[in-house]
Amino acid sequence: MNATQKTMTNANLFSRLFDGIDDPARLAIETVDGQRISYGELIARAGQMANVLVERGVKIGDRVAAQTEKSVAGLVLYLAVVRAGAVYLPLNTAYTLNELEYFIADAEPSLVVCDPSKAEGIGAIASKAGAKVETLAADGTGSLTVAAAKASAEFETVARANDDLAAILYTSGTTGRSKGAMLTHENLASNSLSLVGYWRFSSNDVLIHALPIYHTHGLFVASNVTLFARASMIFLPKFDPDLIIKLMARATVLMGVPTFYTRLLQSPALTKEATSHMRLFISGSAPLLADTHREWFARTGHAVLERYGMTETNMNTSNPYDGDRVPGAVGHPLPGVSVRVTDPETGKELGRESVGMIEVKGPNVFKGYWRMPEKTKSEFRHDGFFITGDIGKIDTRGYVHILGRGKDLVISGGFNVYPKEIESEIDAMPGVIESAVIGVPHADFGEGVTAVVVSEKGAKVDESSVLKALEGRLAKFKMPKRVMVVEELPRNAMGKVQKNVLRDTYAKLYSK
Ligand code: AMP
Repeated sequence: MNATQKTMTNANLFSRLFDGIDDPARLAIETVDGQRISYGELIARAGQMANVLVERGVKIGDRVAAQTEKSVAGLVLYLAVVRAGAVYLPLNTAYTLNELEYFIADAEPSLVVCDPSKAEGIGAIASKAGAKVETLAADGTGSLTVAAAKASAEFETVARANDDLAAILYTSGTTGRSKGAMLTHENLASNSLSLVGYWRFSSNDVLIHALPIYHTHGLFVASNVTLFARASMIFLPKFDPDLIIKLMARATVLMGVPTFYTRLLQSPALTKEATSHMRLFISGSAPLLADTHREWFARTGHAVLERYGMTETNMNTSNPYDGDRVPGAVGHPLPGVSVRVTDPETGKELGRESVGMIEVKGPNVFKGYWRMPEKTKSEFRHDGFFITGDIGKIDTRGYVHILGRGKDLVISGGFNVYPKEIESEIDAMPGVIESAVIGVPHADFGEGVTAVVVSEKGAKVDESSVLKALEGRLAKFKMPKRVMVVEELPRNAMGKVQKNVLRDTYAKLYSK
């Protein structure tokens, strides 16, 4: 049987990753505490863990939820779940018991894996939902690995079709209920394979993996791309700028969220020399400031490659490997992915440079929201395009630009105000590091445009200086009514500015 026939009979992501592996001794993962795991060992460990899952009663299509600290065993668990034909459901380690109760009741997993310290609380929730519980700690110890150590490494990967589910990832859900995005084997495999080619990954690559593995970025983009390329990754439990700069001497790629780059820039150790062994710096999950892009280039000689994706769609666009990596733009659609910009109301496609709703279609786009058929239907157009909720434009050179989430749009006095436009003006002012523009309830205008600004230490940036600098540069209706200077913006673990938190903080700003 040739490789194509095999893919047709078994589209399981695990088979596509590892079947026919020709060099099992090749290094797959190393950890900062000195573990070195080869491809062969990774496959064997996934086999052992898959056997444990089956022993615990996990069946094809069952959900296996995991709230565990980042570890190699955590990654093995993901691979084992997929290999056993079950559906992997990673959960942010920051979720509280209250939040977990919702996810577990909604997803109805047959098994929940958690840190031993949380076993009691989660155990009670899981038993209510009829799920079993196993433990897995940050150091790889726990009931799951104890059982796996005794299990056979032989496991026949369960055959799955392209359209079968491999994972459910709950979206961060800053408004309304968090939704479970259903991702198929084909969604994950096609996107990673496409990125391997686009970003020129090869078996010579060494990725610095400092992202969490409960989110699409660290779990799918970073891990699947590395494994498909037969490259290796250095697993860091968390972001550590000093260590990352040291590792650059023998690594080739870093994938990060924008805050990685701003924080690395604060280190004097970040130099051209320190980054000379690296071939690629990739950023995504939140907007990379154009200033950060330029500063990174000036300091290191590398142009950060920014890409755009989301939980529901995997990766949609990327700046080119060769050619211009444009600061502030997220690049071109990936091969096989269609991107268009439409009028949010009518759904009519808009021309180049027009601002509207970004919609995407392709093998990367998820199957729908778990047990929410109506919600799913309302987020897709009739011709299969997914309405991302991101507002943006495609420029004359075909580069996609993100101008913010649709729900962050400010409507002041009946006029639409795109926060990004005002943020870009403020960010360009001397002494300003970054800003966030939000709409806050206002008796006269509906929403009052409000700017929250982070200034450099010691810089003379205040409300009146910002307003003065904006005068004449922005139409009156876009002018902030108030400017708040703060030390930092609230961010989640993926570096996204939490505008909902800012809206809450300043909710009463204009009340009399
Ligand atoms: P998540 O589902 O947590 O990955 O969040 C996806 C959202 O992050 C997208 O819908 C965008 O709003 C935002 N996002 C991801 N990558 C970028 C980027 N490069 N620039 C701007 N926003 C981004």
